[in-house]
Amino acid sequence: MSRRSLIAGNCKMVGLKADGVALAGDLADRMKASTNRSFDLLLCPPFTLISTVSEVISGSGIELGGQDCHPAEKGAHTGDISAQMLKDQGCGYVIVGHSERRTDHGETDAMVKAKADAALQAGLTALICIGETESERDAGHTLAVVRTQISGSLPGAATAANTVIAYEPVWAIGTGRTPTSDEVQTVHSAIRATLGNLLGTAEADQIRILYGGSVKPANAKEFLNLADVDGGLVGGASLIAADFWAIAEAYR
Ligand code: PEP
Repeated sequence: MSRRSLIAGNCKMVGLKADGVALAGDLADRMKASTNRSFDLLLCPPFTLISTVSEVISGSGIELGGQDCHPAEKGAHTGDISAQMLKDQGCGYVIVGHSERRTDHGETDAMVKAKADAALQAGLTALICIGETESERDAGHTLAVVRTQISGSLPGAATAANTVIAYEPVWAIGTGRTPTSDEVQTVHSAIRATLGNLLGTAEADQIRILYGGSVKPANAKEFLNLADVDGGLVGGASLIAADFWAIAEAYR
């Protein structure tokens, strides 16, 4: 098993043009100056900044991703963006099923699966988010919830090359609260076992499973070096280049 770490930044609905240029420029400079990196770096800016960020990070090795896509290739879907459009703008990834979309837009596992399918069709890697709410955790349902979400959201054509899973406990996103590292490892190991049932153990062994939820430079080492954690999905801290970079460097 050799899984290359992925540190992904989810900029959410934050940043005007000057912010995107500054963040991407700072990260691009750090990437160009770094040698022997043991991680891939992915930046997922708001749709409005994808084209600008694409230009700024050109040649730096930073990967670019969208934060969502529509399941259809094109059509009468005002305000939506297709996976093909993201690909056309230089994206290699798209986040699907983030808890904020599941909550704000009522996205179900079936919808997330359709979006992930569209991503794969367009040649993107689907970064599929799953995670329990606080009440589900309190009820002791965490493992059952993530197993159901994986089974319902994983596209049929998923492989380790085109799919990444992000485990993000909803109650840990943007709150400064986190599970213990033992809890994270337990959930990640259960996710990998579920992937093994769905795709076979050889494929599941290669799939990257990221942890997300209040990852900061101060706790990155604790979470990101666990046996079944292959990187992080970082929200707030990805908006500060020095912090995002420090999290990535926790892999060295
Ligand atoms: C996220 O938005 O996916 C996330 C993990 O946010 P934060 O790092 O701010 O908790």
